[in-house]
Amino acid sequence: MTPLEMIVAKRDGASHRPADLRRFVGALSAGEVPDYQVAAWLMAAYLRGLDPTETAALTEAMADSGRRLDLSGLGRGVVDKHSTGGVGDKTSLVVGPLAAAMGLTMAKMSGRGLGHTGGTLDKLESIPGLRVDLAPEAFIDQARRIGLVIAGQSVDLAPADKLLYALRDVTGTVPSIPLIAASIMSKKLAAGAPAIVLDVKVGVGAFMRRLEDAEQLAEAMIGIGRRSGRRMGACLSRMDGPLGRSIGNTLELREAIETLHGQGPADLHELSLTLVGLLLVLADQSARPEHLRDAMEAALRDGSALLRLRRMVEAQGGDPRFIDEPDRLPQAAVVHSLPAARGGWVAGLDALGLAETAVALGAGRRTKEDSVDHAVGLRLLVKPGDRIEQGRPWIEIHASSEADLAAVTDQVQATLAISASPGPPPPDVVIRHWVDTGAAL
Ligand code: URA
Repeated sequence: MTPLEMIVAKRDGASHRPADLRRFVGALSAGEVPDYQVAAWLMAAYLRGLDPTETAALTEAMADSGRRLDLSGLGRGVVDKHSTGGVGDKTSLVVGPLAAAMGLTMAKMSGRGLGHTGGTLDKLESIPGLRVDLAPEAFIDQARRIGLVIAGQSVDLAPADKLLYALRDVTGTVPSIPLIAASIMSKKLAAGAPAIVLDVKVGVGAFMRRLEDAEQLAEAMIGIGRRSGRRMGACLSRMDGPLGRSIGNTLELREAIETLHGQGPADLHELSLTLVGLLLVLADQSARPEHLRDAMEAALRDGSALLRLRRMVEAQGGDPRFIDEPDRLPQAAVVHSLPAARGGWVAGLDALGLAETAVALGAGRRTKEDSVDHAVGLRLLVKPGDRIEQGRPWIEIHASSEADLAAVTDQVQATLAISASPGPPPPDVVIRHWVDTGAAL
């Protein structure tokens, strides 16, 4: 089929054959399809949808548009995780080391923050000297030696996704579940891990605001992974308020270190253990979830998980003493505690509002070209359900100047919802989690 025939077929509601999708992706990757035709096809796919066979074929073709990493030499326990992005989401910095301490190999290619969601690479780069630009051979070698590597995409994984995403971004076709699923999974398939756990966030601070959409996205991604022979697991987790207490790169790294000491916030601890539990079950079907929890808690208590982070930092050129003594990490010039305007119970913390303030302070990027200030951000002193007295501090603002602090203060204050009476206890961060049983494990 020519690109025009592809557009017409999808416009009229037909299903594409996998071979046609493969040819189309090959042609657009080679620059042989003009943007207006790709954009027209994207709109047709957005409106008419793609069935599971089409979505899987599109994803495989996108994954094949660049290099695929071969991790087969690393054995069966190689795992990857992906979060659809949230506020204060530092789970990879806990999940990776804990998974490694439990005998898995976490070989993860991460991204940078853009917009209101943060990126793991920015958090890691809070450690002076740490490198995330590893060549594929060094990436695989470190995974083999340490069981843990988190780096940027040194090779262009799924370059067709970059082309398609750029056009989706300017044509109103981003919020399509099959297109999002194909975009995310094309990069995961190319990154090579045979077992993948997805953390799909739901709520005001997430890409998916409605539970039904998050469920559909999770199922679409699992379906793709299954058809490609990957072992898949998923977790739906809440993202109405920030995860944990910190937003901002160094602050989040510090919180991850606290969690690896077994002293992290309850929601981050719970979500991390849930995700590692899923990874362990994917790697070893005979694993008993009820035994895994004790073993994971022990790996936090005895320091073995933290040791993996330390070894990874050292291997990637960072000074591991920053992990031993996080007070040595860069700190913001101005730290101000904001008092509560009135007393009561914390009814909510607006994740999106807090994330936007953190970006305004310099913790995140508005465009890909922006640089980030690792030290700035926000640290919550309360969580939903807590009692708070008027005039008591509820959040720390870490800013690079008094002017920056003044510019965000009102906006930060508006993110705290206080109720005069206590509400029901806040719901668990984990809504649901499961391992895909449709795959040949
Ligand atoms: N993240 C991606 O990688 N792709 C999308 O389409 C949406 C979120």
